[in-house]
Amino acid sequence: MAYPPAVTRLIEAFRTLPGVGTRTAERLTFHLLRAPTGQVQELTEALEALAASVVACEVCHNLADRSPCSVCTDSSRDGTRVLVVEQPRDVPAFEDAGWSGRYHVLLGHVNPLEGIEASDLTIESLLERVEEGEVKEVILATNPDYEGDATALHVRRSLDSTDVTVSRIARGVASGSAIEYSNAAMLSDALSGRSSMDSPS
Ligand SMILES: [Zn+2]
Repeated sequence: MAYPPAVTRLIEAFRTLPGVGTRTAERLTFHLLRAPTGQVQELTEALEALAASVVACEVCHNLADRSPCSVCTDSSRDGTRVLVVEQPRDVPAFEDAGWSGRYHVLLGHVNPLEGIEASDLTIESLLERVEEGEVKEVILATNPDYEGDATALHVRRSLDSTDVTVSRIARGVASGSAIEYSNAAMLSDALSGRSSMDSPS
């Protein structure tokens, strides 16, 4: 038996989300059919607010309420240093750690198994920022795991044609752990212990 069109539509919409297969999409949809009106209303409004008010910054690609974002336009921050992170969720962790330069959000990491290549990330945009001339140091703060290290290498290589200093944060962040779960003191140490990263020959 086919579901009513509105049910099929919501199931299909859920299925476009990462990690959500048909069974999960159906479970979420049936949950919402039984949920109190208030809960559905809140979800609807939250989605509308998200679509209406959150944009990706055209410079750093972080999520923001305007573009360029408040970090990119804040003249009190050090525009000569750019901290490169994988995801928007890594930014609050470095803000807590006292980072006062700017950011560049890659929007992912290289992962051949998931079909994510370097060209899917915002590396080209980072290169353009560096070529504009203000940036003197690029600090790679991708996660200390296999994908993060591979991503850092790709970024390093793509900056070979520039004379910017490239460094990688120290391994104060335990190998295999994620930036977003690291505490401020640990990230602050990892930043101050950063070392220059040479391109593999
Ligand atoms: Zn920005």
